[in-house]
Amino acid sequence: MEKIFTKHQQDIAHKIEPKSVLKNWKDWKWHMRHAVKTIEEVENLTGIKFEPEDKKRFQETQDKFPLSITPYYLSIIKKENYKNDPVFKQAFLDNRELIVANSEMGDPLSEDHDSPVPGITHRYPDRVLLLVSNVCAMYCRHCTRKRKVGDQDYIPNKEQIKQGIEYIKNTPQVRDVLLSGGDPFLLSDDYLDWILTELRAIPHVQIIRIGTRTPVVLPYRITDDLVNMIKKHHPVWINTHFNHPRELTASAKEALAKMADAGIPLGNQSVLLADVNDCPRIMKDLVHKLVMNRVRPYYLYQCDLSEGLSHFRTPVGKGIEIMESLIGHTSGFAVPTYVIDAPGGGGKIPVMPNYIISWSTNKVILRNYEGVITTYQEPEKYESTICDRNCKDCNLELDVESGDEYNAIGIEQLLSDYDDTISLVPSNNERYERRGDENQDGEQS
Ligand SMILES: *Cc1c(COP(=O)(O)O)cnc(C)c1O
Repeated sequence: MEKIFTKHQQDIAHKIEPKSVLKNWKDWKWHMRHAVKTIEEVENLTGIKFEPEDKKRFQETQDKFPLSITPYYLSIIKKENYKNDPVFKQAFLDNRELIVANSEMGDPLSEDHDSPVPGITHRYPDRVLLLVSNVCAMYCRHCTRKRKVGDQDYIPNKEQIKQGIEYIKNTPQVRDVLLSGGDPFLLSDDYLDWILTELRAIPHVQIIRIGTRTPVVLPYRITDDLVNMIKKHHPVWINTHFNHPRELTASAKEALAKMADAGIPLGNQSVLLADVNDCPRIMKDLVHKLVMNRVRPYYLYQCDLSEGLSHFRTPVGKGIEIMESLIGHTSGFAVPTYVIDAPGGGGKIPVMPNYIISWSTNKVILRNYEGVITTYQEPEKYESTICDRNCKDCNLELDVESGDEYNAIGIEQLLSDYDDTISLVPSNNERYERRGDENQDGEQS
């Protein structure tokens, strides 16, 4: 059984502060106070010795993208083979961060554009991101918001957060609020309690989600006090961010157990990273370890086009290959959805291997994970009802409240019977421009 506060961790703690004991090590604020921010400190604490030329380049990299590692996360690096260590690679500078590829962007997801008020990203119809913290326990080298890392770390004050809360209050279609950042768990329990209380007082907010990497890089943040506070605001869902099985240490497992025991449904969002986890066996091991700790793999992200991440990117084919190795081969709930976050703010797009091989009016030809090709006979009789959205007179039972009315958009709109739009047309379509203003919405004349 692995230990918390191993000999190696004690050595690191003692180098930082000679008299430190287990109580200090398990104090998250101690880790924040002693966050490792220089190359020399990394050498001193881990015993790794970098080449002088490398160090010069590291320094240049650090000038652009700063370094910050918790003593805990540093302590799980394996020094002997550090150059190939998945923990080291996520935490420590890489000179390739300075390479800017043509396709890379500062804000690939256009988050700054979809922001109606400061602190809110409203991209999907019924849910918003509320940025409550600009602070992280560690600066992940693969951060999608890398452009912002190291910009003044600050926690927005109540006035600033109230602007976001006010927006949510005035936007009744928002039923799901995601606290994001930075890392929301770097707020104090009291501050987080205040935010959750404010959100809970909004009748249309059904669920609250928190995205945090603290279980991975600062597991001691998950205290009894924290989970007992969160429990009062249920339903609260938490998504964390494990990328490699090595990150599921005794300390991380303890943190996950505390949250699961508090009745918090746990999910995990991994990022597919070259030379870290771009391997079907590593991914399978990761998802198995997650479910053993009551964490459901939620998303596997294709690495974003953010500046300085080119060395982490894999082809999409690698992700499909990994999905192919998981679907059918392991428990359904251990399989995440593989998504590409569309550059330009299009949101998450799921990508899957193809399982439908062909189709006729009465048969679908499918293949399974083993390569067996099979036929699904469509029903001989299926009365397709024309849906006019008059749910009150429909035979299917659904209690619709007035607030549930909505207009379909996108492909759902094209598929619907109650809306006569027949095509979605790019806004810069010349053919449509020549036609003049009529028929812009694709309606048949
Ligand atoms: C990911 C994301 C969400 C949440 O999406 P889900 O698919 O519901 O998890 C919401 N808003 C933004 C801007 C996002 O990037």
